[in-house]
Amino acid sequence: MKKQVLKVAGCLLVAAIAISAYFLIGHFLRPFTPAERRIIRDSDSLMNVCVLPADSAVLRAVSAPLGDRELDSPLLQSLIDKMLYTVQDPSQDGVGIAAPQVGISRRLVCVQRFDKPGEPFEAYPNIQIDSLLGEICIGPEGCLSVPGLRGMVPRYASVVISYVRPGDSTHKRISERVDGFTAVIFQHECDHLDGILYIDKATEIQARD
Ligand SMILES: [Zn+2]
Repeated sequence: MKKQVLKVAGCLLVAAIAISAYFLIGHFLRPFTPAERRIIRDSDSLMNVCVLPADSAVLRAVSAPLGDRELDSPLLQSLIDKMLYTVQDPSQDGVGIAAPQVGISRRLVCVQRFDKPGEPFEAYPNIQIDSLLGEICIGPEGCLSVPGLRGMVPRYASVVISYVRPGDSTHKRISERVDGFTAVIFQHECDHLDGILYIDKATEIQARD
């Protein structure tokens, strides 16, 4: 009788260790954190946009790079699709959006390329600004995360950006120079990845008409 109890207890212990190992290994092997996966999977195409002051924590955080597992994950494309849908929805009507604005603290932005034919929206994983070039010009800006306001912000006329192309399994970094208004959008969106909002740089801030 005693032997049988010990045998059952041993089996239960082995099962418990196996189940724990399965979840622990799964946690470290799966791309994105459980919280990030929840946001990406559970969000409608129109994602909830984080706003001040309620969502200061994520909007003011420095975002982490996307690792190899995240870059190769179908979840990244799902996140990009939903961010692109959200920024173009008439309720937002933006020209750019950064991942922290939908609660994902990762280095990813979507920008409308006014400098390309058809002015398409494109996604830029692991983007960084390598150079700021040209004159500094002051122009009007608003932000989906700071509703009801607009401000005048100094920005460089040109930028050199580098990033990984979505879906490129080699993760090769692309470098390109961008000029004009599109360069301003890249500066605004890349600031979001460092927890910086345009209101931090604006020379004057007014209520939006
Ligand atoms: Zn913004």
